[in-house]
This record gives sequence, C-alpha cells and structure tokens, in this order.
Amino acid sequence: MMYDAIIIGAGIGGLTVAALLARDGYRVAVLEGHIEPGGCASSYRRKRPDGTSYVFDVGATLFGGFQPGGAHDWVARRLSLRFPVVPLEPAMQVWLPDRVVTRYGDPEAWRAERMRAFPAQSAAAERFWQNQEQIADSVWRFAARHPPMPPETMGDFLNVVPTIRPEMIGLLAHLERTVGHELRRYRISDPALHAFINAQLLISAQVPADECAWLFGSVALDLARQGVFYAEGGAWSIARTLADAFIRDGGDLRYRTWVEQILVEGGRAVGVRLANGEELRSHLIISGQTVPDVARLLGASAPRHLLRVVRTLPEAWGAFTLYVGVADTGIPTGLPAHHQILLDYDLPMGEGNTAFISLHPAHDTSRAPAGQCAITISTHTRVVPWWAARAAGRAAYQERKARWAEVLLDAAERVLPGLRSHIRYQQEGTPVSFARYTRRAEGMVGGLGQRPAQSGFRSLGARAAGVPGLWLVGDSTFPGQSSAAVTQSAIRLYTILRRG
Ligand SMILES: Cc1cc2nc3c(=O)[nH]c(=O)nc-3n(C[C@H](O)[C@H](O)[C@H](O)COP(=O)(O)OP(=O)(O)OC[C@H]3O[C@@H](n4cnc5c(N)ncnc54)[C@H](O)[C@@H]3O)c2cc1C
Repeated sequence: MMYDAIIIGAGIGGLTVAALLARDGYRVAVLEGHIEPGGCASSYRRKRPDGTSYVFDVGATLFGGFQPGGAHDWVARRLSLRFPVVPLEPAMQVWLPDRVVTRYGDPEAWRAERMRAFPAQSAAAERFWQNQEQIADSVWRFAARHPPMPPETMGDFLNVVPTIRPEMIGLLAHLERTVGHELRRYRISDPALHAFINAQLLISAQVPADECAWLFGSVALDLARQGVFYAEGGAWSIARTLADAFIRDGGDLRYRTWVEQILVEGGRAVGVRLANGEELRSHLIISGQTVPDVARLLGASAPRHLLRVVRTLPEAWGAFTLYVGVADTGIPTGLPAHHQILLDYDLPMGEGNTAFISLHPAHDTSRAPAGQCAITISTHTRVVPWWAARAAGRAAYQERKARWAEVLLDAAERVLPGLRSHIRYQQEGTPVSFARYTRRAEGMVGGLGQRPAQSGFRSLGARAAGVPGLWLVGDSTFPGQSSAAVTQSAIRLYTILRRG
C-alpha cells in the first residue's frame, strides 16, 4: 500500500504530526516498535498477583503546554479533542540542602516565595527575574506564531520574517548569551540561588546556567508561570488521546512494528523496511527518532554531513529511574505532586546529587492499589558507565542498579522520611532499559543540551537528515525536549508540509 506519509515512532512528536496530517485527509501510517504510544512520555502497568495494578510513568511526569495558546492546546483545538489533564498548583517544590522553595504558577505567590527563599540579594535577583519573565513573554509570543525554526531554506527564511515583531529585534543581541551571563550582569553571586537555577535548568534545558542559552533558559525558567498539568490515568493518556484521534481520522497505527531501514532511491527517501522484511512506500517519511538513530536507519545512505553532525553532537544525558509503589501512610498529607532534590551544593548536578520525584495526585485512583501511591524517581546519569557495567556481566550490572537505587532512595527520604519502610513494589530503569524500550541511541534521553551552539536558530531542524523526502520531528530537533517542545516541533513540521 502507498501512504501519503509514513511516521517512524509513536512518541508525542511523531504521533502529533501524524494526527494533524490524518485530520487533513492524508493517508498516514505510524509504525511503533513498542506495545503502547508515548515513548519517553508513556507509562507501564504492573499487575500484582491479587489482580490490582500500578501504572508508573516511565519518564515524563509533569506537563506544560496545555494552557490556552500552549502547543498541546493548539493541537487539541485543531483535532477537536480534549486531553485528560488537570492543572497543578504549585508546580513543584525544590529541596535545596538548607531550604525548600515552592514553585508557584501564580506570579504574585512566586514573587513572594523567591524573595523569602533567597533573601541574600533579593533586589538584584528581582531585577533578574523580572527581565527573565519579560524575555520569556517575547519568546512565547514568537513561538505562538509557529515560525519554521530553524530556517533551513530560503522559503523558511521568508516565512520566518513575518513572524518577527519589533520587540524581537532587541532579542537578537541575546542569541549567544547564556543564563550565566545574565546572572553576572545582575551581579548575582548567592550560591543558593545559583544552585536553584542550575537545578531547574538541568530538568528543562539539560545544562547548567553557564552553558544554557539565555533565550531558551528564560523560557525554561518560566514553566511554572505558564502552568503545569497532571495527565489523568498516567502520562500515556496524552499519547493515547492522540492515537485515538489519529485512528478516528483514518490513520493506520501499527504497534510491535520496528523499522529497520529507511529506503533511499536516487538520493530520496522512498519508504521503510520493517523487521519482518516488509517494505512500505511513501514520498513522505517522517522520523520521530533521535538524529543518531535516523543515521543508523539510513545506513550506507546517510549523507556525510549527517554523519558529521552525529559525530560532533555533545554527549546527552541518560536517566536512572526508580518506580516504587508506596503505602499512603508514608506520604505526608498535603504534599505537592512533584519535587526536585539537590543534596549537596558543592557536587555537580545529576548522578544522584539531584533527583526528581513525582507522586500521582490522590484523586486519581487508577494509578495504584487502594491505599498506595505510584511514584517515579529519576536522576540524570551518564550512559557510558551503564553500558560498561552491562558488558562486565550480569552481576556487575545488577550491583550497579542496586547501588543507584539506594542513592535515589536516600535522596527521596528528604521528601518522604522513612520511605523505605513503606515501599510495597520497586523496579529500576537504566539507560540500557531506555535503549531497549525506545531504541534511543545508548539510552540517551531528553534531547540535546540547550547550549547556544545547539539552540534556537542553531538547533537541528526538520531537514537535518539532509535526505529529500525525509523529515525529522522530536526532541533532538528545535525547540528541544519535553512533551510541549516536541509538540511544537510537530506543529512546525506540519506547517512546513502544509505550505508545500
Ligand atoms: C526520565 C525522564 C523524565 C522526563 N520528564 C519530563 C517531564 O516531566 N515533562 C516533559 O514534558 N518531558 C519530560 N521528559 C522528556 C520527554 O519525555 C521527551 O522529550 C519527549 O517525550 C520525547 O518525545 P519524542 O516524540 O521526541 O521521542 P520518544 O519519546 O523517544 O518517542 C520515539 C518513539 O519512537 C519509537 N521508535 C524508535 N525507533 C523506532 C523504530 N526503529 N521503529 C519503530 N518505532 C521506533 C519508540 O519506541 C518511541 O515510542 C522526560 C524524559 C525522561 C527520559
């Protein structure tokens, strides 16, 4: 069968562009290797012998972009669907070694909280935060016009120009700046405030202030103000809602279907070969994979430029995750759903020194057996040592997993004292697990660090593969990681394709 478009992967990026095209009457196939949609923003069910079950979020747990005008909201309107999400306030708590900071979405509450939590240089810090909000507002307004970013052709340039407003001209001077530059400009030296900003950037931009592009960083620090949401029933509800809309509009969604090769003839992508040897053909191939994975599927057809891009990409993070079922008696009453923990001001971020904990809200009884809570705990980790441990044999790998589980439980005990004695179920996830379930190269997750050399106008675009007929969507392309960001990348690609 000849399709108008073939999409590799039912992650949020691939599924969103698939659903948008199907809505417009395209005959679209989505090929997903796993048994559920959502990729890194999915969930899994763990049944217990008594018939009850847990639903754990595998990666993403906290979602932006559902507020009016946000990327998911734009898609919902376009597809006439309703995502099952509810707003969360506060967005999260950040547990620094000597204080707890609550990230309120309400601007006034957040202003009062940051002044309370960081009194050392509150006047200078206030100027920094006000500037951050102003810059973020301009960037959000630009993003809402869906410019074809980064411009890759003359046509893209011509389409970007009308989306630029006079307020944007001033932002050009910021393109090469980092969040670190801004902190120095406001003479902010308070180590606690620096650590707070570094920790927050780690989860949304993958790099600390001194490396993080300021325009991206201003938006990353704005997540709570824009509004964060909980997905009822678990993260996979978002992808399942998209999948339902796609099928409603005639889409062909195949699970347990791994693509092994992207077929190129005469320099053009013309189809895919599946693991069972079947070939599917289309003039439009869209990959929701990471850039190194696209190069792997192209094999000998990968252009030299793409191979050079892959070789020179900075190392991306992996994640070590812990999925625990916990008796409610171990959870303090009124505790917010999300917590970031920094254990030691003097140690680098990630690798167990920072951790992120997400509990499902008590009202959602679908997530765990009665009287229990399904919790995901994660930390950023380098992928290489995990593969080395695996190569060293089962014992070395299991020992490493067990040791890291203890590190994360120690961190989580800050928020949930006595946690260990309340655990009823526990399962670990490593970069090896992420590679197995999502086929992402070496289990690297979360996209590229948003350094000026990989951010904004200099990020990878939809044509980064350099093969006509092959388009990219997802978190290694603009604007980066998160369900909202990959939705933005899907909208951008849809807009380019519709313009023709
Ligand atoms: C631990 C962790 C925590 C996170 N926390 C958050 C958070 O709280 N909020 C947030 O917004 N974001 C978060 N993120 C980031 C977010 O999940 C991702 O940026 C986003 O989901 C990526 O979507 P994607 O569509 O680009 O790719 P993916 O989610 O990787 O989807 C790609 C899909 O393609 C499929 N696939 C790959 N290769 C093939 C093939 N050859 N054939 C067929 N199918 C294939 C995979 O199975 C997968 O389903 C987190 C990520 C992790 C790992």
